[in-house]
Amino acid sequence: MARVIRQRPMNWVERLYIFEAIRGLWTTLKHAARGLFRYEELPTISYPEGQPEVRRTYRAKHRLMLRADGTPRCVACGMCAAACPAHCIYIEATASDDPRIEKKVKRFDIDHLTCVFCGLCVEACPVDALRMDTKEIIFEHRTRDEFVANLQTLTSWNPKDYPDDAQSQVAPGGTKNAEARKVWGMEVKN
Ligand code: SF4
Ligand code: SF4
Repeated sequence: MARVIRQRPMNWVERLYIFEAIRGLWTTLKHAARGLFRYEELPTISYPEGQPEVRRTYRAKHRLMLRADGTPRCVACGMCAAACPAHCIYIEATASDDPRIEKKVKRFDIDHLTCVFCGLCVEACPVDALRMDTKEIIFEHRTRDEFVANLQTLTSWNPKDYPDDAQSQVAPGGTKNAEARKVWGMEVKN
């Protein structure tokens, strides 16, 4: 149902316009002065000196999860590539050395110039091997090729950046790595 909004008629002072113009200028001046002298109160940030606060749940740059032995958890099933609406994931598989696992990933590329950061690849992964919780939202590169994340860059993350994530702590460099290796009967190196 349409709602009619009745405009308040202007009084004679407002109809002169000069006072309303001065009032508008005063508002502009107040905001300009706040930007000059009290800019820390502004709802904006002075990028790049100030960086935006990014939550862990924000869909940022991808990372591939690692097992305790340092190998990617990805089993090269291709479900993330199939789910990707932008067709920006390229995967090559090879036979796994582990008899319990059929395949392992040989090549894993994500083109971040084409990616729309929808997160469907993360949802599609059956083994939680792909995440977008890096909080990295700024992509600066000189060439188009550098925007393509590969297996090496996707697995080069530091467990110290994920202190609250138990699964990340099981990866090499994580606080639970040695413990996880013992539990799984693997050789303890760290
Ligand atoms: S976030 Fe979306 S567009 Fe980007 S790789 Fe994943 S599925 Fe494809
Ligand atoms: S990241 Fe997950 S969905 Fe994609 S190929 Fe690897 S295991 Fe499959």
